[in-house]
Amino acid sequence: MAIERTLSILKPDATRRNVTGAINERFEARGLSIVAQQRLRLTKEEAERFYEVHAARPFYESLVAFMISGPVVVQVLEGEGAVARVREIMGATDPEKAAPGTIRKDFGLSVEENSVHGSDSRETAEREIAFFFSEIEICP
Ligand code: GDP
Repeated sequence: MAIERTLSILKPDATRRNVTGAINERFEARGLSIVAQQRLRLTKEEAERFYEVHAARPFYESLVAFMISGPVVVQVLEGEGAVARVREIMGATDPEKAAPGTIRKDFGLSVEENSVHGSDSRETAEREIAFFFSEIEICP
């Protein structure tokens, strides 16, 4: 499998509880390298644009409000099959439905406050990496 890069965001519920290090350990233990990382606060406009595919969903406004409620850590993760691997390590969107040992199962608070974002395809990863890290190569 090819070495890929993907985008992850440690969400405000994770920064608030100081579990970003514990979450990063999960990624690193599974062979992913953090090749870029920044802690920042999203503006409302950035959060709206990042999640614009969900604009018609009933939870969109609430999701945007949550994502700007505190700092986030945006990061580029690199490794073999990184896009799928990160999704696997994160677990299902709803922590209650996530498999044992996944980040969302162990750290998520609710279907919204689920601690972590990971790009859902290689195409999305390219777009999402460029969104935050215009200076970073999309491919290793
Ligand atoms: P993901 O790819 O697993 O992050 O899931 P989606 O792309 O479907 O949703 C994006 C984000 O919106 C999720 O990670 C949650 O933070 C939030 N979200 C998804 N579904 C719901 C929902 O039914 N209710 C609420 N309040 N938030 C949701």
